[in-house]
Amino acid sequence: MQAAIKAEVYFFTHEPYRVVTKNKKIKWILDNTVIVRDENGEIVNFVGYLTDITELKEKELELENLARIDQLTKINNRLYLDEVLMQQYYRFNRYSEECSIVLIDIDYFKAVNDEYGHLVGDKILIEFAALLQKSIRTDDIVGRWGGEEFLIVLPHTYLDKAAFLAEKLCKIVAEHEFSVVGHKTASFGVATFVHGMSVEQCVDMADAALYEAKESGRNMVKVAKQA
Ligand code: GH3
Ligand code: MG
Ligand code: MG
Repeated sequence: MQAAIKAEVYFFTHEPYRVVTKNKKIKWILDNTVIVRDENGEIVNFVGYLTDITELKEKELELENLARIDQLTKINNRLYLDEVLMQQYYRFNRYSEECSIVLIDIDYFKAVNDEYGHLVGDKILIEFAALLQKSIRTDDIVGRWGGEEFLIVLPHTYLDKAAFLAEKLCKIVAEHEFSVVGHKTASFGVATFVHGMSVEQCVDMADAALYEAKESGRNMVKVAKQA
């Protein structure tokens, strides 16, 4: 308001904000103000126009969500994971904040589709995603990397700690009773950000570790051999 008065404008718009109504509903408000001046340019009063833009705002948030959520499993999608990885990579280079990643691939998932059909396969993916989501710490970010592969980004976490957490997850998965198929296992590859390495190289390291876990018999965690 002060800035608008100084700038001698007659009209200004606030950033949309939220209000809580009497019956405890949240409404998004677009707030326009007209500054009424007399013939000498002195301010007489302000006239505010409040427009309820809740529906519009909800649509906007819905679209944002759609862009970052995997439609099958309802957890983060690849696009969002890429964004998180870039943010963490920046923080690692700028502030040396450690960050590790865990790549996860369900063991013998094709057999689920072959034996029970694609719809059951989808159901297991949804359950698997929910299980990961509820088993990670609040600051960790999990998403669907593709198909039956998932990626967890662990900010502020060094390699040993990430391996420890992956071991815990591996056990949680193996002990979980999935609907229809019962027990399923997964393999885990762990890597950490290293200076001079790109994000892609770091993911490749996790992928190589995951491959090693598969080769060594599955249902286990392997840690990337990094400098
Ligand atoms: P491995 O232990 O080596 O990982 O064996 P696997 O059978 O899990 O490996 P593979 O990568 O060969 O198979 C992955 C399967 O996941 C193949 C594909 O049909 C299935 N899949 C990928 N995305 C989806 C999906 O969205 N829904 C369903 N139902 N199946 C999917
Ligand atoms: Mg796979
Ligand atoms: Mg698999």
